[in-house]
Amino acid sequence: MTVLLSLREVSKTYGSSNLPAVDGISFECQGGEITAIIGGSGSGKSTLLRIIAGLEIPDSGHIVLNGIALNGFSQFVPPEKRDCTLVPQDYALFPNMTIRQNVFFGKRAQDKPTRIRELLELTRIEKLEHRYPHQISGGEQQRVALVRALATNPSLLLLDEPLSNLDQELRDSVRTELIDLFRKTETTALFVSHDTDDAITMADKVIVLRDGKAVQIGTPTVVYNQPTNSYIALLFGKTNLIPLEIFPKARYNFADSESGLQVVSVRPHELKLVNKDTSQCSPHFSGKVLSIQSKGNSQEVILDTKELTLTASFPISHRIHVGDLLTVAVEENQSM
Ligand code: ADP
Ligand code: MG
Repeated sequence: MTVLLSLREVSKTYGSSNLPAVDGISFECQGGEITAIIGGSGSGKSTLLRIIAGLEIPDSGHIVLNGIALNGFSQFVPPEKRDCTLVPQDYALFPNMTIRQNVFFGKRAQDKPTRIRELLELTRIEKLEHRYPHQISGGEQQRVALVRALATNPSLLLLDEPLSNLDQELRDSVRTELIDLFRKTETTALFVSHDTDDAITMADKVIVLRDGKAVQIGTPTVVYNQPTNSYIALLFGKTNLIPLEIFPKARYNFADSESGLQVVSVRPHELKLVNKDTSQCSPHFSGKVLSIQSKGNSQEVILDTKELTLTASFPISHRIHVGDLLTVAVEENQSM
């Protein structure tokens, strides 16, 4: 794989603000890779995408796409000359035009009728051509926006919250469809989401943004299992932050952003029920069940131990009641 996109120390502060929206961000995307930018509201995700697309001008930093300097080096390549397309969060379809008129809009698209036909078939919306955007569903509107963006065969597709307008039940199938579409059209994709499940299921690489800074860059597995601070650990779902002094043999630890203490992140499913008297596991915790919440095929149990309040996830087949005394241990793979 070769580097397709490279950002070096890119920063931007909006005129009215004294805090940077994007603060010294550097990363690379390899050709064919799917990268997710994850972060809370206002963390700078959209600004970063708009900078790469050429819709915002950074105050400093360099951006190179396909060997061409887009920003920096006294260069500014305008959006329409960049080998990338941005699909905005609201899809930005023209409401007064049919789907056909939307996807064939502009000279660059009109030069590619065969490709557009192929994309309409690939996304299964060819039968909707004569409808208007308000006459199709959110999922279909998204496919129209994707066809329009891919019509000119950009090397890089930028997607701002591509799944945020879709129902929960559609999201899973759309994730698979998107990955499939990127692969079939050989598109490198950089997408923004505030939903960490999107990143975990779709991305090869995750960039976590906080206050405009890239606080961690890694594969979904690394970011989930080896977060560099407790903010990231908690962003990716519930976890138990166990002090390292209780768990000195832990595989991986980091400083808790709140307390500054070295801690180990143990996800609820990494705790297993053990027999208190025979347990050889280190560490293990005994305590009383405070509450139980059903999660369908699992149950989430809050356990009050002497040192900590722990959240554990067990199969529904374990018969557990509030007030029970339980002992849990950390699974082997966490405590190597
Ligand atoms: P996100 O997409 O992660 O929610 P944004 O990139 O939209 O974040 O915003 C990052 C920060 O920049 C926020 O503090 C936001 O208020 C500010 N911001 C975004 N766009 C503008 C703008 N056009 N003018 C001034 N401030 C802006
Ligand atoms: Mg945004």
